[in-house]
Amino acid sequence: MKRKRLLLIELLPHEPERQFRTAAYPWLMGLAEALGWQASWGALGVRYEPTLRYRLDAGDLALLRAELDRLKPTVALINEHLRPEQWAALAKALPGGRLIYWPMESSLEALGPTFESLVPEAHGPVLRNADLLARLRPGFRRRALNRAPWVNSLLMRVVCGAACVYRTPVSGNPFYRKLRLPSPIMGCSFCASFPLQKPAQDVVAFAAGEIAQACWQLPQDVERRFELRCQGLWVRLEEFIRELIRLKASRAELIFMPRIDELLAARAALRRCLPLLAKHDLALRIYGMGVENFSPQENLRLNKGVTARQVHEAVSFITATVKAWPGRFLCEPGRLSMILFTPWTTLEDLRINGEHIAVCPLINPCCVLGQRLQLFEDRPITQLAEHDGLVVKRGGPFYNSGCIIQVEQHEIPWRFKHPEVALLWQLSQRLSAAGRGQRPSDTLDKTASGLLTRSGDSPPNPLPAFRRAVALMLRRPRPRTLDRLVELLARESPRDL
Ligand code: SF4
Repeated sequence: MKRKRLLLIELLPHEPERQFRTAAYPWLMGLAEALGWQASWGALGVRYEPTLRYRLDAGDLALLRAELDRLKPTVALINEHLRPEQWAALAKALPGGRLIYWPMESSLEALGPTFESLVPEAHGPVLRNADLLARLRPGFRRRALNRAPWVNSLLMRVVCGAACVYRTPVSGNPFYRKLRLPSPIMGCSFCASFPLQKPAQDVVAFAAGEIAQACWQLPQDVERRFELRCQGLWVRLEEFIRELIRLKASRAELIFMPRIDELLAARAALRRCLPLLAKHDLALRIYGMGVENFSPQENLRLNKGVTARQVHEAVSFITATVKAWPGRFLCEPGRLSMILFTPWTTLEDLRINGEHIAVCPLINPCCVLGQRLQLFEDRPITQLAEHDGLVVKRGGPFYNSGCIIQVEQHEIPWRFKHPEVALLWQLSQRLSAAGRGQRPSDTLDKTASGLLTRSGDSPPNPLPAFRRAVALMLRRPRPRTLDRLVELLARESPRDL
């Protein structure tokens, strides 16, 4: 009898933060083997797009069609939704087979039942085995389907326990205790609370085992990057590194995204681990840690629980350690993220933030000036915005941020409580776009671009102009239109704040 075939299609964006729903792929390779199917995995390097329902360029679409035609899989799983006409074109290239969107992003505990429900062609008691992951050997052999420069380097999200365990009592936060939240505890108010389940396996053994398998299987010239989304691993960092070394994993980059307070708590362990990493050709990268907001009021509303002092302390540690361990401890400038604008933001909040951003080398002003809160269903902060009458019916253009991880996820639009801040948000977006080198689309954009601070080889900095704008708005009478604000800024001579 002809063996059934599984093809895993990975759309791999050039920005690591936009890579979703492939954590299960190595385990699906192992599952296919256990089921007696033939399996292969093809990676297509794509550029991050601002629309989630992804559109491939014509060349990549043709490459994928050719791959489907060559392999004739029974089932092809893909980690991204494509535009309907592209989806139809690929489905057409699969006569007798099916193209299925693979949704699994976090916990792999439900791997067997999820696969069985999406792929009824699969049978076997193995699918319902409670100990399924322990019985599978993850497979990492993948084929690059195009020549995107980043396509050959593996970026694998390893999920094995709760990504985050930060929770505080709702009764302790004055913004939320007045609301009827479904749970008495909450994480950051804008975040989907991850379930606090006890992992079915030992997280150190599981993650180290998966990474070691990848290192053994992959050719030497393939870059190996592993994003470790598990708070239990971070707190057992030293044990985890020692286990990787015992398993002879090497040339791997371990990417963590701890909270800022968790990073501070792990400084001693990190200092002990760095010589081990260096000796065994391993590296550790920190990325995407959230400051969110330096203003105490905004921070409390976001329920972040990280102070400005902690942020600066963490930044000093990171900067010094990156310098002391080049290539072993990595964190690029600009890697700290913020939510600068929320529906409640005041001018004073923006003034405080401007002051701190100016002295924080790991924050990229061009990025954070364009960052605002996104509201989604079932988050405490969305309930707060509804309570305060700040949710609106119509929103702006769709923004495919790193917070949108599922195809059916929709942002809930909101409005600013303070009109003067709404004006600054308009300016901030223009300054941010100009700083990132985006082509001006109108005269105001051109003027905003002229407001950037340029010095030597450094990239143009929009922050001084933004801080001047905040200072201007704090004076009376304040400008009421964006044109007037930009005109005043252009007329003023820049000065230190
Ligand atoms: S934003 Fe980060 S720290 Fe806050 S609850 Fe979510 S995962 Fe945890």
